[in-house]
Amino acid sequence: MLPFARIAIIGMGLIGSSLARSIRATMPTVRLSVTDADAHVRARVRDLDLADDVADSAGVAVIDADLVILCVPVGAMGRVARDIAADLAAGVVVSDVGSVKGQVLVELTAALPGIAVIPAHPVAGTEKSGPDAGFASLFAGRWCIVTPPVGADPVAVERLSEFWRRLGATVETMDAAHHDLVLAVTSHLPHLIAYSIVGTASDMETVTRSEVIKYSAGGFRDFTRIAASDPVMWRDVFLTNKDAVLEVLQRFTEDLTALQRAIRWGDGDALETLFTRTRAIRRTIVDAGQDTDADDFGRKH
Ligand code: NAP
Repeated sequence: MLPFARIAIIGMGLIGSSLARSIRATMPTVRLSVTDADAHVRARVRDLDLADDVADSAGVAVIDADLVILCVPVGAMGRVARDIAADLAAGVVVSDVGSVKGQVLVELTAALPGIAVIPAHPVAGTEKSGPDAGFASLFAGRWCIVTPPVGADPVAVERLSEFWRRLGATVETMDAAHHDLVLAVTSHLPHLIAYSIVGTASDMETVTRSEVIKYSAGGFRDFTRIAASDPVMWRDVFLTNKDAVLEVLQRFTEDLTALQRAIRWGDGDALETLFTRTRAIRRTIVDAGQDTDADDFGRKH
């Protein structure tokens, strides 16, 4: 039996539209009702035929749904939850896909008293945005971290976990604060570094912008892919995961200072030791199936 029969998705960008496509592919009998704040996105979703109903408001989209998934930027989650509160059906499970879990959990539970709120985060995505960027296999073979609040109904948690497993994801459960610390290291800090490096390179006066672009294959271009990620989504990630990001940033700054010292004093051993350790970490990520071993990240030349 399917874990849910009538699903509503609020926000039809990269993640929401990927979810719609993936639900259609794996659970075709599910009735899918969606909406987005942007009228152009709603029109595009209708053209792409991604759902049974494309509602003009979140309140209309969620009526009768037994699962509602919020796929909007983290900073908009609380507002959307307040908008739909009066229209939710009895017994509904409300979840989200936000990249930060602590603040979302606080805002959703405050806006939806008495409703089963079970936040989740599929650790899958690309640097693209919008409904055309989504694809059905986005979650296959990826992790989905479910962060139930203390005292959550275990049946609701299991139904949501089963939903993600049907989309091909592997589900892990952890508390929201731990999720935010783990993701600060594995995702938020790397994005911050990429935004910073690309900003620095474009501000350099002695190296021309055309030189930066021309010789970007030296490493820079891989940072530019990450730094092309959605500005609104990432603004909200840093504003809402402030404490964990500042904690890992402090560690990173100290480690960077140690590297700076090693370079200044010609300490080749320190550099080589670190670079050898990091190469081994890359190997374990490839072995775990979290990336391909293709040369140059699989680029065609
Ligand atoms: P996206 O492509 O920019 O899509 C977000 C959509 O939500 C946009 O169409 C946006 O419309 C709409 N929206 C904004 N506020 C809304 C509101 N109040 N009501 C209804 N719709 C609203 O972003 P995304 O990449 O799919 O990200 C969505 C969520 O997934 C975020 O919380 C993000 O943290 C999380 N996530 C992203 C990734 C990733 O790699 N991208 C991975 C995992 C999780 P406008 O354009 O008009 O604002």
